[in-house]
Amino acid sequence: MTDPAHEKLTMTEAEWRERLTPAQYHVLREAGTERAFTGAYEGNKAAGEYVCAGCGAPLFSSETKYDSGSGWPSFYAPETAAAVEEHRDIAHGMIRTEVRCARCAGHLGHVFPDGPAPTGLRFCINSASLDFLPKA
Ligand code: FE
Repeated sequence: MTDPAHEKLTMTEAEWRERLTPAQYHVLREAGTERAFTGAYEGNKAAGEYVCAGCGAPLFSSETKYDSGSGWPSFYAPETAAAVEEHRDIAHGMIRTEVRCARCAGHLGHVFPDGPAPTGLRFCINSASLDFLPKA
C-alpha cells in the first residue's frame, strides 16, 4: 500500500477554487503573497504541525518556527526535505527561490539564505497556504 501523504495530488483549477477560500487560492494556485503581518500564523507560538492548506501534507513543525520580524511565518527548515520543492522564481525583478508543496505543487512562499542556525535558511511562508494542527 502506498503512503497517501506521498502521492501527488492534482486537481483542476475549478476543483481548487471550490476547495479553497479566495485567499488560499490566491496564494497556493496563483503564487500570491499575503500582506505582511496580516496572516493567521505569523505570531503563532503554539506547539504543533503546519500542514498544507491545499492537500493536508505535513510541511513545517513549530519546532523550527522562529520570529524573523518579516511579517510572515518563518521556519529554518521544512519538516522533511521531501515535503517541499524549490523552484527558481524571477518574477517581480528579483531572483528568488520559490517553495512549493511537494504533494500538490501549491505555492507556499520563498526561502532565503538569511535564517538562523542550524540551517541558515529562512522559509518565509504565507499563513494562507497553511493549516495549523495544535499538538494534542
Ligand atoms: Fe499541498
